Amino acid sequence: MIAHALQRLSDLAWPPVCPVSGAAVEENGRLAPAAWHGLTFLDAPWCSTCGLPFPYPGAGGSQAATLCAMCIARPPVFDKARAPLAYDDASRPLVLGFKHGGRREMIDRFARWMTVAGGDCLADADVILPVPLHWRRLWSRRYNQSALLGRALSARTGLPMETDRLLRKRATPSQAGQSAKSRKRNVAGAFVVPDRNSVQGRRFVLIDDVFTTGATATACARALKRAGAVRVYVMTLCRVVRTSDPTI
Ligand SMILES: [Zn+2]
Repeated sequence: MIAHALQRLSDLAWPPVCPVSGAAVEENGRLAPAAWHGLTFLDAPWCSTCGLPFPYPGAGGSQAATLCAMCIARPPVFDKARAPLAYDDASRPLVLGFKHGGRREMIDRFARWMTVAGGDCLADADVILPVPLHWRRLWSRRYNQSALLGRALSARTGLPMETDRLLRKRATPSQAGQSAKSRKRNVAGAFVVPDRNSVQGRRFVLIDDVFTTGATATACARALKRAGAVRVYVMTLCRVVRTSDPTI
């Protein structure tokens, strides 16, 4: 009751606005209709491994397990990747506002979308694991957006979240605007498992905000699997769909 009253008061002082367009909305955590309609939600048919949507039904073949050309040519280290939203001009302000601007009012909605897209990953996992930030970046940003997503997913699914299974042992340069090759080089060997016993034989869902080239997911999955993890699934809020657009 008190929380509700306080919320009404704060809404009067700071009227809720759409995190994408800045237009007034009814309540916090909502998008203005134009922003909502601009978003591209991803759905099957998609690559059963990396979640890349196929342009039309059956484009990946008629088998239950259909793979994209990239996953056939080079099978990923992680078992599956899923994201509910395309990373594009429409979703970029939403993601950047959350990642750098501290806009968290949509987090429960993000978790709901991710649960729908990655239900099969969550159903087969023991634990949720956010992609760690290096302590220096955590210090300057004050929060780890992947851990916020992980916590919301944990609350929604009941799966525990553990944050110390993987460490980022060196600060990697920002991946923004970098090519696939340099992204891969940036994060190769950047992650370590401090305690192999806590990883061995377990199934993880790795959480991150955006899946761009998969370089970070691959580096994390490699470290976890070398330490004995049996499954590493990757769930992100967004995914780059056109490989020519890796700029975040
Ligand atoms: Zn694929």
